[in-house]
Amino acid sequence: MNIRDSLLAALIAFNVFAIGTSESAATEAKDQITILYDAFGTNDAMTKDWGFSALVEVAGKRILFDTGNNPEIFAANVKVKGVNLSDLDFVVLSHRHSDHMAGLSYVLSVNPTVKIYAPKEGFGIYGSSLPSGFYRKDEALPPEMRYYGGKPPAVIKSGSAWANANFELIDQTTEIAPGITLISLISDAPGTRELKELSLAVNTAEGVVLLVGCSHPGIERIVEAATGINPRIHLIAGGFHLVVAPDEAIAKVVTALKDRFKVDAVAPGHCTGEPTFAALKTAFGDSYLYAGLGTSISVGTSGNTRRGEGPTLDDLATYRKLAAREDPFGILRSRGLRSGSAL
Ligand SMILES: [Zn+2]
Ligand SMILES: [Zn+2]
Repeated sequence: MNIRDSLLAALIAFNVFAIGTSESAATEAKDQITILYDAFGTNDAMTKDWGFSALVEVAGKRILFDTGNNPEIFAANVKVKGVNLSDLDFVVLSHRHSDHMAGLSYVLSVNPTVKIYAPKEGFGIYGSSLPSGFYRKDEALPPEMRYYGGKPPAVIKSGSAWANANFELIDQTTEIAPGITLISLISDAPGTRELKELSLAVNTAEGVVLLVGCSHPGIERIVEAATGINPRIHLIAGGFHLVVAPDEAIAKVVTALKDRFKVDAVAPGHCTGEPTFAALKTAFGDSYLYAGLGTSISVGTSGNTRRGEGPTLDDLATYRKLAAREDPFGILRSRGLRSGSAL
């Protein structure tokens, strides 16, 4: 009886262990973000170039977020990582800058019918449409001087640079699948005023996993919009667009992400900027997830791995001490040593 009981206990223990292992292995295999295009990284088999692309495997979906700056480099990087682009659920193009969408021609060459979400912009590169009522009419003119001879179609369509691509244009923040939202915001920054950008928010059990392309509308605005989906932000990956920002602006954003939004972890890349990498690393410690080219970041919706490790309180205490100082991240001091170097 004792032997039978212990045998049973052993079997149960083994079984539970086996299920736990396979489940966590399955979760790890699925829930990850793989950086396919960026200008920094440690994978020598891949080519570094300015631009961004990531394969997002979260919540049972395979989503390609942006497509990089050059189709040949993108194709080569995709092959090195063994990523299959023919079974994507969909593609998201964050915005119309070429460092995020020039690889689309390669995606279409292997998957011509894939659904592509892109921002809706008047006469934009993704194609668009306008009601013909948008222009003023002059009935007194002879037909040959009137647009469409005076009989315009109800809707005037503008073409796309990828004529046969399966675009779905997004005009406002939209939940495109259960728990998967495209946040649509418009930049007000000089140089990109009126540029529309989509960010991908996946609402997981651990909070929002947020992918940002270039954050032209401002990383704080995007994160604030994401908290409308779920106040807990689990992870932000992508370009925070602080690549030319002054130190004060960097410190303000880092403080907002850490203190105001209480973001669990960051995986910054692309246009985040080198001084911002340094500031985020100081502020987030072990919750700064390295996201160089070729890296796969485990998103882990169970959250146990990151929670278990988390020296969060220590980090926060250190961070608050640093934030109270005049030059919290030592950026001003190090910049002073390189005085005259303008970005
Ligand atoms: Zn951009
Ligand atoms: Zn960019």
